[in-house]
Amino acid sequence: MFKTVRSERHFGSPDALPGPWELAWEAEHLEGASPQRILEWAVETYGNRLALSASFGGPEGMALIDMVSKITDEVTVLTIDTGFLFKETTEFREEFMRRYKLPLEVLRPKLTIEEQVERYGERMRTCNPDLCCQVRKIEPLERALAGYDAWMTGIRRDQTPQRANTRIVAWEERFGAAKFAPFASMTEEWVHEYVAEHNVPVNPLLKKGYKSIGCEPQTRPVSRDEDPRAGRWSGMEKTECGLHWVAGKAVRGDS
Ligand code: SF4
Repeated sequence: MFKTVRSERHFGSPDALPGPWELAWEAEHLEGASPQRILEWAVETYGNRLALSASFGGPEGMALIDMVSKITDEVTVLTIDTGFLFKETTEFREEFMRRYKLPLEVLRPKLTIEEQVERYGERMRTCNPDLCCQVRKIEPLERALAGYDAWMTGIRRDQTPQRANTRIVAWEERFGAAKFAPFASMTEEWVHEYVAEHNVPVNPLLKKGYKSIGCEPQTRPVSRDEDPRAGRWSGMEKTECGLHWVAGKAVRGDS
């Protein structure tokens, strides 16, 4: 059973927080630790200055929210609503969060889709991926993370070659925050077992042939023998939205 951690660090004290080199040491130290142990350390260290980012697409984010909720109810769940999400995803998000006490913050781009099309052209409707992701995902997350010292995601090393070097925790210069990946060394099977064992709901589209779910214009169902992420940006060179990958490089603590 997990312990309940109630941190005293309500407003953070940046001087006391670990810097890039200490995080690199902690990443080595936490390698091989269970996700629960990693989360306990993250919550003890950052308290409510720690946020959790979930897309409500794959089961990883759902497992992460469930696991964190067994430790604390002070971590804010951040989720980006690009305006291009499946209706099923936004409905699932509201229904799922009714089960948990963790606060939810829905991040939205500054521009509506219509304003984006007016400013950058018609193909931003379906879209010109790098610029669209910058406007609709990266900028809203950057704005939100200005209010936190650390964030975490459910990404795993075996999801894509770009994620293979993901560290358990690393300093992320562009967001000015520590980034945790408690599931970095976990497998897809482990995630499925966790959600089944703990009765954690998952996006209903996962039962309709989708394996990785993002924005509707660039997500399609995949066949049984396809890579789970083959349905994202299908037919394009793009494989990542840039939240975990920058200018052709994995986002690492020393980059
Ligand atoms: S995934 Fe596609 S629709 Fe969604 S923000 Fe990125 S480029 Fe735009």
